[in-house]
Amino acid sequence: MLEGYDLDRLAIATLASHSSLQIVHGAKKEGFETLLVVTEDRAQFYRQFDHLVDHFILVGKWRDICSEHVMRSLREHNAILIPHGSFVEYVGIDCALSLRIPFFGLRSLLKVEASQRAKMELLRRSGIPVPRDFPPGGEIDGLVIVKLPGAKGGRGYFVTSSLQEVVERLETAIRRRELNDINEAIVQEYLVGVTAYIHYFYSPILNRLEITGADIRYESDVDGLKRIPPRALAELDLEPTFTVVGNIPLVLRESLLPIVYEYGARFVNTTKELLPPGIIGPFCLEGVIDRNAGIKIFEFSGRIVAGTNIYLDGSPYSYLYWDEPMSVGRRIAREIRLALERGVLGKVLT
Ligand code: AMP
Repeated sequence: MLEGYDLDRLAIATLASHSSLQIVHGAKKEGFETLLVVTEDRAQFYRQFDHLVDHFILVGKWRDICSEHVMRSLREHNAILIPHGSFVEYVGIDCALSLRIPFFGLRSLLKVEASQRAKMELLRRSGIPVPRDFPPGGEIDGLVIVKLPGAKGGRGYFVTSSLQEVVERLETAIRRRELNDINEAIVQEYLVGVTAYIHYFYSPILNRLEITGADIRYESDVDGLKRIPPRALAELDLEPTFTVVGNIPLVLRESLLPIVYEYGARFVNTTKELLPPGIIGPFCLEGVIDRNAGIKIFEFSGRIVAGTNIYLDGSPYSYLYWDEPMSVGRRIAREIRLALERGVLGKVLT
């Protein structure tokens, strides 16, 4: 895919959403050209940042990125695409897999990420503690969270301890065609504790794993419920959603760091084994920490997460590795720069 590319004039490219401003900001700091693919309705907002963006490609809809003329234009700019958390959601998995533009990151992980079950299996095979899983419609033991496939941002999830409710609601979902088969649903132990989203960066060039930060997702309605007195809550009859509206910084207790580091290292090793060459760059393990400081991971993201936007100037951890402001956006560009200098760009692209 690098054939015909001018390696002295690479452009770091992404879709204008999610963490794109952080990505182009970091790329500029590392001396790269930058490119944003933007839809017309967002163009005015993003043009404010034209000091960070050298090239804009305007599209009618995100999927146009897979059209011949947009792909040609990306290639003419020697674009390396940074797929962020919204990328697959916007362009679709088929477009993402077939796009003939080099990706910074592990493209084959996208397929795993398309299936909740495959994701949990990858975590399990890594030896990372995960919540218990119950067969949909089968016996449960305590509080469970039920996840329907395609439910975005936790909307459509429900929490219950009643098997009857699980069965009834899954049957309703089938009638409404939100579900083809009961086995598509995930019935998972509801973890009691506090949520933590831990950001990592694996460098194939330096052959090291870095913890780049942590955050808490601020989710509506669940995070607002504590503002309502319990009596009123009982009367409200509300099915709370987990819609992410923002991110809050989190600095972990230092004694937790070796544990989460070990989880990250296990994840890296499993991806190397099952999906060679293995994870490249940023990823996130999403978990709940309980009262005994036990950590279980209920989800992962194989790319830059929006929680890193908090640390545009570096996080308390990135300072320890780099002693200079190092956002994850900049860290991506630094990795590409290091790979270029060593003549091994192919090591960070798929
Ligand atoms: P997800 O779509 O898997 O990222 O989940 C959305 C939100 O649901 C998370 O950010 C958590 O707040 C919550 N959640 C998901 N799985 C669990 C679990 N097993 N136990 C407790 N909360 C969970």
